[in-house]
Amino acid sequence: MKRLTTTFAATLATLALGALAFAAPAAAQGKGTVGIAMPTKSSARWIADGDNMVKVLKERGYTTDLQYAEDDIPNQLSQIENMVTKGAKVLVIASIDGTTLSDVLKQAHDKGIKVIAYDRLIRETPNVDYYATFDNFQVGVLQAESLLKGLGYPEKKGPFNIELFGGSPDDNNAYFFYDGALSVLKPLIDNGTLKIASGQTGMDKVSTLRWDGATAQARMDNLLSAYYTDKKLDGVLSPYDGLSIGILSSLKGVGYGSGSMKMPVVTGQDAEVPSMKSILAGEQYSTIFKDTRELAKVTADMVDASLSGKEPTVNDTKTYNNGKKIVPSYLLKPVVVDKSNWEAVLVGSGYYKPGQIN
Ligand code: BGC
Repeated sequence: MKRLTTTFAATLATLALGALAFAAPAAAQGKGTVGIAMPTKSSARWIADGDNMVKVLKERGYTTDLQYAEDDIPNQLSQIENMVTKGAKVLVIASIDGTTLSDVLKQAHDKGIKVIAYDRLIRETPNVDYYATFDNFQVGVLQAESLLKGLGYPEKKGPFNIELFGGSPDDNNAYFFYDGALSVLKPLIDNGTLKIASGQTGMDKVSTLRWDGATAQARMDNLLSAYYTDKKLDGVLSPYDGLSIGILSSLKGVGYGSGSMKMPVVTGQDAEVPSMKSILAGEQYSTIFKDTRELAKVTADMVDASLSGKEPTVNDTKTYNNGKKIVPSYLLKPVVVDKSNWEAVLVGSGYYKPGQIN
């Protein structure tokens, strides 16, 4: 009897396990696969984006296919083609070059696959359904306001010597950041409060291909040796932490940040750990925090809604014309971070753990 009971119990346990094993993948399979194409692992922000997307989508019962393309356009293209072939139901894409995906997205739409542009707008195609991002113009506004704050304006009247850096010319966001910043800086450039000794303004002159820090460093080296041997630079508009690091090394290389050479005010974006450490060390002045956890949630909501035939929640239907259509968008709020508020914003929100930065 004892033996029988044990066998019976074991059978029950096996059955229960079997049911569990059956239930778990069935729920996941039921919701289908979401292909997530990210640009590069060379920046911590995109690693966090990928991780957060996978976490949120898995919690909601989806299977995920996350790929990074190491900033190589053909690589990203073939990753997305693969996702389409393997039967993804939705594609979430942070593009490298927002204009190069038209053919594969046409194939995707022909198969009924929904396409969500993630953080960066996908351009020149009607086959993009929704766009989840931050208020990119506002990012630029905040960067410029922070640059002015660091310079001590309006208490100090200037003139201040500054230089401008832009992001990658194949990334739509880069123009929004630049335009947002210039909306604040241009009146002060025009009235002589801000002086740009190089005369280099406009994205055609100040952009940085692929957001590459070494490219920014080389341009800063050139600017310093061509225009700043007899005057001091007071500030640099930098749109991204990875560029700021290159710019700061160039500045340090000619003696800024030591002795009587005050470190110029350098902005940034993404609140990446090395830049947060630099801010605490009094080198980089500020950055922009974009909570990728929130972006993942908004994007997952778009995935859920579009697969259940509902209209996803959007809060902007005017701004993001991709050349073929205005893409319905959800814009999250960016937050400026400097020495005065980093702890409350970054640690207080749980984005970083205590001790991760300082
Ligand atoms: C993102 C920024 C990021 C930059 C470089 C942009 O598209 O919006 O957050 O700093 O790419 O990776």
